[in-house]
Amino acid sequence: MYSDVSLFIDGSWGPAAGGRTIDVVNPATGDKIGTVPHAALSDLDRALEAADKGFKVWRKISAYDRSKVMRKAADILRERADNIARLLTMEQGKPFAEAKGEVLAGADVIDWFAEEARRAYGRVIPARAEGVYQLVIKEPVGPVAAFTPWNFPINQVVRKLSAALAAGCSIIVKAPEETPASPAELIRAFADAGVPAGTINLVYGIPSEISEYLIPHPVIRKMSFTGSTVVGKQLAALAGAHMKRVTMELGGHAPAIVFDDADVDLASRMLAGAKYRNAGQVCVSPTRMLVQEKVYEQFVEGFVAYTKKLKVGDGLESGTTMGPLANPRRITAMETFIGDAQQKGATVRTGGNRIGNKGNFFEPTVLTDIPMEARVLHEEPFGPLALISPFRSLDDVVTEANRLPFGLASYAFTRSAKTANAIASSVEAGMMTINHMGLALPEVPFGGIKDSGYGSEGGSEAIEAYLNTKFVTQAGL
Ligand code: NAD
Repeated sequence: MYSDVSLFIDGSWGPAAGGRTIDVVNPATGDKIGTVPHAALSDLDRALEAADKGFKVWRKISAYDRSKVMRKAADILRERADNIARLLTMEQGKPFAEAKGEVLAGADVIDWFAEEARRAYGRVIPARAEGVYQLVIKEPVGPVAAFTPWNFPINQVVRKLSAALAAGCSIIVKAPEETPASPAELIRAFADAGVPAGTINLVYGIPSEISEYLIPHPVIRKMSFTGSTVVGKQLAALAGAHMKRVTMELGGHAPAIVFDDADVDLASRMLAGAKYRNAGQVCVSPTRMLVQEKVYEQFVEGFVAYTKKLKVGDGLESGTTMGPLANPRRITAMETFIGDAQQKGATVRTGGNRIGNKGNFFEPTVLTDIPMEARVLHEEPFGPLALISPFRSLDDVVTEANRLPFGLASYAFTRSAKTANAIASSVEAGMMTINHMGLALPEVPFGGIKDSGYGSEGGSEAIEAYLNTKFVTQAGL
């Protein structure tokens, strides 16, 4: 079912020059399930040449026709959703239903950007003299290099790929080596829909080797990265040294604030559901549950009860509600964070341990009484680890929410419009969702501030990152 993955360069699938490969492992079993090519520099040169050529072809195709090809790719993706979702679960671990949801959501992202392609409007500025036309024109920025992580192998690629194609750019995607087959199938859908050769290229290898070669290269005009803040800062510096346009979607440590006038049961259910989605390996995962004192115990009880009901297992088995962690690094991280917090005085309300020693299974975990010195209150846990702490007043919780350098997602629950307004305007975050889970739709902005990065990967803002603004002023003779 799972077969070896290929590079896709200039319209052809194939191995890396020299034939080097990297193993792909199923995180539910620890077994090798396939290989992915490790691109050589000569493969990257071919991809660059192809992207240069592909850009010249794709940019000349009208937005109307680009949009049609993209919508066809979305339809193909929907038709193949079951098969692709199975590959995604085998390589990444998430439950099949979540994987299928990701594939279908990917198709919606493509459709949204296909429509945005036809709305990449410029404008006409009133002139100071008769007969003069002052035109603002939007043009594609050029070949793009995109670097995407393993937590949402389809979703992280599809946002960058669709925005680039909608704008008229070509792209080289460096997709995740640990979860390579599902993004390859996404790209196959575009190829089968008729995107011309060279417009989309797909490579895998050593991430630093590829980014250090592509970002400075004169063919590449823009880069987009999703991943950790540490790596994001290195790549942003490299892009800055070469004056390349940049979008950075980095880590978070989302505060989820529950006021004592909220529907507390709803809040605990929704936040626990969001926390354990994809085993917590989500940049917008609610991480610091900050609960007002009066309803603190009620919230903890509800959250722990939800957590205990989760069924951890192989994502392909029916009934599984949380899969394994995607790689052994996350197991080490969970053990380190929990051990450190416990040693400093935190209480493990449920979970806390690895399950078995085959596959990367870990108990969904709730910590309370966490002292401020605990590392997990400062670093992104990126796993099934919920931190619950009480707060007294609005001012206190705003201070805590803004304490960290991150500013990606934030959550709040309150029945008071006044409190909702106050919290929305004072939390430093790129996104806030109040009384429901409303983030990450294709048509709404998606991005962070502070150390969480810059730029948006959703909404009408997203295509801007792939467009140049050109001003043309023209006088009649
Ligand atoms: P990591 O920081 O080494 O890698 C994160 C991602 O960046 C991976 O996809 C990796 O391939 C890529 N990467 C690393 N170095 C790179 C380079 N020099 N050039 C280009 N790409 C590079 O570590 P990891 O163990 O894979 O993930 C750990 C942390 O990364 C997590 O704790 C989390 O904070 C963050 N992360 C964030 C997201 C997100 O959605 N924002 C996704 C995955 C990981």
